[in-house]
Amino acid sequence: MTETPLNGEYDDWLDGIEAGEPYYVECSEGHGWLPPRRVCPDCGSRDLHEEPLPDSGEIATHTTITVATPQFEDDAPYVTAIADFGPVSITGLVRGVDPKDVSMGDAVGLEVGERETTGERAVVFRPR
Ligand SMILES: [Zn+2]
Repeated sequence: MTETPLNGEYDDWLDGIEAGEPYYVECSEGHGWLPPRRVCPDCGSRDLHEEPLPDSGEIATHTTITVATPQFEDDAPYVTAIADFGPVSITGLVRGVDPKDVSMGDAVGLEVGERETTGERAVVFRPR
């Protein structure tokens, strides 16, 4: 059984970052998840609670997008990355650093920014 994250929960999660209180959800077995969900995919627990995210994450993988889909063409070139924050991995955009200077293991902080093209909120990593 899989459960897709609810849009409202994702928005709440972004609100938490903007409020300076980023969190992830954890079940009673210690499985951590993002985006927030109602049921733990590992053990099926419905007893999930919010835990504060670590202040700093570490870039695990990154990709520079030089030719973007029309939806994000004004954003290009940009860097997407997956960063590990404690028990959870978060996908976001890397800003505040030249794309060629982004490396695995870089320490990054988490904030909410906007897509240049659409103005939609997006998860942003900034080097610390
Ligand atoms: Zn679990």
